[in-house]
Amino acid sequence: MNWRCFCLRIHAPADLRLEAAEVDEPQAGQVLVRVGMGGICGSDLHYFHKGGFGTVRLREPMILGHEVAGTVAAVGPDVSGLAVGDRVAVNPSRPCWACRYCREGLPNQCLDMRYYGSAMRMPHVQGAFRNLLVCEAAQCSKVAPGVPMSLAALAEPFSVGLHAVSRAGALIGKRVLVSGCGPIGVLAIAAARIHGAAEIVATDVVDEPLAIATALGASRVINVAKETGWTQPLSADKGTFDVMLECSGNERALRDGLEVMRPRGTVVQLGLGGDVSLPQNMVVAKELSICGSFRFHAEFGLAVQLINEGRLDLSPVITHAFSADRATEAFEMASDRRRAMKVLLDFGQEVPQAQGAAA
Ligand code: ZN
Repeated sequence: MNWRCFCLRIHAPADLRLEAAEVDEPQAGQVLVRVGMGGICGSDLHYFHKGGFGTVRLREPMILGHEVAGTVAAVGPDVSGLAVGDRVAVNPSRPCWACRYCREGLPNQCLDMRYYGSAMRMPHVQGAFRNLLVCEAAQCSKVAPGVPMSLAALAEPFSVGLHAVSRAGALIGKRVLVSGCGPIGVLAIAAARIHGAAEIVATDVVDEPLAIATALGASRVINVAKETGWTQPLSADKGTFDVMLECSGNERALRDGLEVMRPRGTVVQLGLGGDVSLPQNMVVAKELSICGSFRFHAEFGLAVQLINEGRLDLSPVITHAFSADRATEAFEMASDRRRAMKVLLDFGQEVPQAQGAAA
């Protein structure tokens, strides 16, 4: 097979290049996907601006991207349930299924994870910002007819929100605080809404994302940079919220949140920041639970199902789409929280003709 293939590779901060790439024939259990849309994630932006985050640094050129959806273009041997022409969302989570955590049913804690577009290991795991991608058929969830490819590309960040909700426990009838309304925060709001939260209050320091939080189901939004006394009424009688989904990674957001949590409440930390200090006595006296939430695994299929069934409208999350050759512009737009929420790259517009035998 001779497919013309290109990818979006980062060589250094602010150095994105659309380059020719190779693609192999799909092997047993694999499919070839013609990528349609790919969402730019916060981690992609960290590589773009700073060459990484924390101890994770770019040490060699890497194809970015892990939020993609596309169309099956060829099917390898021993694949059932997928056919050429099927539209799919691709799960970028590739645990080993052999390590102790995979065997315990915790694949997101895999010791040998190969998550797309990650510089955590060396050599880096190449990402999915490319027009043709070979992946395992098991990574693919079918996208229903009529669902735009752009919405299907939200399956990955939506899965992160769904996983956070599962870490919080049952949300039905609960009062939920969501701090930080980037794409993960607003998708966590959607996840909390569909899990039956009675009230969802969203906070941020910028107005524009808060408008999208409202569209995704927040009952009330607070710009905490402007409403500086916001915690006072909500901390009466030891606090208001049963659950907090902390999506900002900001110390102040966490500390304020602890203040407005009611006794025995649960704080789920999704935002990545750094070291923070906590009011220990408050955590003790209110018997608060604080837990982390990292990526997802099984939630991917649920995310695609919810998108397929149209049970919630995630479209306000998508603010821009750029053709892949305008990637630098797209990354700059995605970095502007006043103008952009989720920015997509369109790999379909650039698709060269496939050459040679198809499948
Ligand atoms: Zn594993």
